[in-house]
Amino acid sequence: MRVKFARVSKSNSLTLINKVMETIPNSQTGADLSSSKINLLGLGEQGLIDFFESIGERKFRAKQVLKWMHVRGVTEFSEMTDLSKSLREQLSQVAEVRLPEVVSRSDSEDGTIKWLIRTAGGSCVESVYIPENGRGTLCVSSQIGCVLDCSFCATGKQGFNRDLDASEIIAQVWIAVQALAPGRAGNYRAVTNVVLMGMGEPLLNFDNVVTAVNLMMHDCAYGYSKRRVTLSTAGVVPALDKLGDVTDVSLAISLHAPNDELRDQLVPLNRKYPIAVLLDSARRYLEKMPDQRRKITVEYTLMDQINDREEHARELVELLSATPCKINLIPFNPFPGSDYRRVSNNAMYRFRDILHEAGYTATVRTTRGDDIAAACGQLAGEVNDRTRRSQRYRDKQADKLQTVKIISG
Ligand code: SAH
Repeated sequence: MRVKFARVSKSNSLTLINKVMETIPNSQTGADLSSSKINLLGLGEQGLIDFFESIGERKFRAKQVLKWMHVRGVTEFSEMTDLSKSLREQLSQVAEVRLPEVVSRSDSEDGTIKWLIRTAGGSCVESVYIPENGRGTLCVSSQIGCVLDCSFCATGKQGFNRDLDASEIIAQVWIAVQALAPGRAGNYRAVTNVVLMGMGEPLLNFDNVVTAVNLMMHDCAYGYSKRRVTLSTAGVVPALDKLGDVTDVSLAISLHAPNDELRDQLVPLNRKYPIAVLLDSARRYLEKMPDQRRKITVEYTLMDQINDREEHARELVELLSATPCKINLIPFNPFPGSDYRRVSNNAMYRFRDILHEAGYTATVRTTRGDDIAAACGQLAGEVNDRTRRSQRYRDKQADKLQTVKIISG
């Protein structure tokens, strides 16, 4: 399924989003065209069942191969010893377990690790592992670049290349889990949580993201509980309306503003799906869950003098009163050329206290991996941009520098 926006808005950035989404070929562009073999890494259980039935095998093979690939980290069919020799040979003729190339790994002083991963076609995405008290969170990318162009996010400035396919999304989990497995040098805390908060908008890559998150939660793959896999969205409402029919992953929404006027500036997608429409859809998502105690996470990036005032906090208290949620406050992380400043500690804790006093659970996300540019919103990878946005952004930066030079003589 491909989510397409209807053409209703006249705004420039939305026209651009619409245009880009129409011209990008569908997600299968992730396939390595040089290989005619099917990559089993990106198939969910049903996809594997279909595959095995197509080669005349029984469907229980799907679970066997899932375990080999994802639990034991095996990529060679010859090592999958509970499959008959003839099946192993047949598999190596028609299929493969192919991972993207890890270009580099950066280790932060605080234990955060960032991987730069090259995808078919040459562009690179990033994923980040963040060890915290009692857990290890992996932040995964869903697209190469992003079309949404939120004004405070580094990824948007890189433009957009294409969707990741399901194998490229799940491979990020595979790579981290294998690198941090017990017995490997470094004695790391295992990956316990996965968040789709890296590069891209997950709900604009719906099918591949759903396949990947369902693998993350599958008992024969990574087996994470639904509370430990979180999909974060800027609010692609038609896709969000369908999400609850195909998965029960935890949901985070990137709100960042308590009213449409401000959010229109920060998250251009808001002009298409305003706050009330988004919150309605998020509540409907929760209503589809069997466990009625579940909550969404509201992400709110605090920027100095932009959205960090006491009146913003009070407006947020009112806005969210009918939505079961907890609030995650994220201090803005600067990146080269960004227009905003980080919130002051005073303003941040005052903001949090107002939410607490109103009865909300509100936490401050501490900045991690700053020294390796791995913090929220700093992920940029290497995107072969197909939208020309990155060029326009560079031109704008050059203009600004020029102005500074002229003013400072
Ligand atoms: N497109 C998805 C997921 C990627 S962004 C979404 O919008 O939710 C993951 C989170 O980091 C979002 O809440 C995003 O708004 C936030 N973020 C982006 N840039 C940031 C920055 N420079 N500083 C802090 N948080 C940022």
